[in-house]
Amino acid sequence: MEPLYLDNAATTHISDEVLEEMKKSLSNFGNTEAKYYCYSEKAKDDVKVARERIAKGLGCNSDEVVFTSGATEANNLFIQGSILAHPEKKRIIISSIEHSSIRETVYHFADKGYEVVEIPVNKYGLIDTEYLDKSINDNTLFVSIILVNNEIGTIQDLKTIDLICSKHQVKLHVDATQAVGKIEINMSLYNSLEYLTCTSHKIYGPKGIGALIVRKKDGIKNDLKPITFGGEQEEGYRPGTLSNLLIVGFGKAFEIATSNIEEDNKKLLELEEVFLNKLIRKFGNLLVINNNHKYRVPGLLNVQFKGINNMILLKKLSPYIAASNGSACSISKPSHVLKAIGLSDEEISNSIRFSLSKYINLNDLNIIDKL
Ligand code: PMP
Repeated sequence: MEPLYLDNAATTHISDEVLEEMKKSLSNFGNTEAKYYCYSEKAKDDVKVARERIAKGLGCNSDEVVFTSGATEANNLFIQGSILAHPEKKRIIISSIEHSSIRETVYHFADKGYEVVEIPVNKYGLIDTEYLDKSINDNTLFVSIILVNNEIGTIQDLKTIDLICSKHQVKLHVDATQAVGKIEINMSLYNSLEYLTCTSHKIYGPKGIGALIVRKKDGIKNDLKPITFGGEQEEGYRPGTLSNLLIVGFGKAFEIATSNIEEDNKKLLELEEVFLNKLIRKFGNLLVINNNHKYRVPGLLNVQFKGINNMILLKKLSPYIAASNGSACSISKPSHVLKAIGLSDEEISNSIRFSLSKYINLNDLNIIDKL
């Protein structure tokens, strides 16, 4: 009996359909930048199709998709590329619940004369939009907000955030790593939303590939600067030979993730309800749910087991359930996200994230009865 994998917000398996698509392109080896021979044509076509699939899923244009190695690199490209583009602006605005790839990158620059403003969140993880409005000034370089949080799943009010950023004419970036496939995203609806981060391995695609969407205005190139040098690929934003194989997998995964959101969410909700009821039956009053279902994506539960240390419990659960505390990218410190929504250190140390997958069957959940 294998443990049930419930850490899908950390990473997912590659789905069969994605794998099939990748296999077909394995032998397309030509360099996608080559111009004078036939060997690159298939690889070029593969990349073109993938770009179109991603662009369609996000409501942007395919020439606005800049491939990176994942979301961490995309977030770094956005932040560092913006700093290089506008060195005169010294205020950076983020939420208090950003992923470490945003948080640590902006704080790296706090030592170099940058002022980082963190927008607080309420107990559900929703940012204080009035605070955001008041925090933006002429010195503001950008606003960066995590669209769906990786630990508590909170979905931010993008419409309001965009209106505020538009009013102040400040650039908005969203980290949509956990949002793709869970909520509809149409970038063309938002005036200030110039940048968006996404990644493949959270949506049943391969690891090592992601993208930063860099929007053009009236076809004019965005002023974002590259942070690596040595080639003209990706319009110069991100030089280096493209991994057509990973890109194919990413594109297919994106297409699948964004074509059936409503149905996938319905299934996740159904699974979540059964899972929770089983947990309640087992743990009763010891169980406290940290994230409210009204404000989050389905399938992502952050749960406290009163008086039980999460590390000890995760180890005990591991023959049956594979889960985590939800911040795999910074495991040594207590979660700043749970702190931001008001949990004490003790409560944080008792909390576990369970993230479900649409590929789980209801029967798979019977393993919980064996705990
Ligand atoms: N942002 C968020 C919200 C994430 O959940 C993650 C993955 N934990 C990342 C960024 C980093 O993604 P990647 O592993 O693709 O670098």
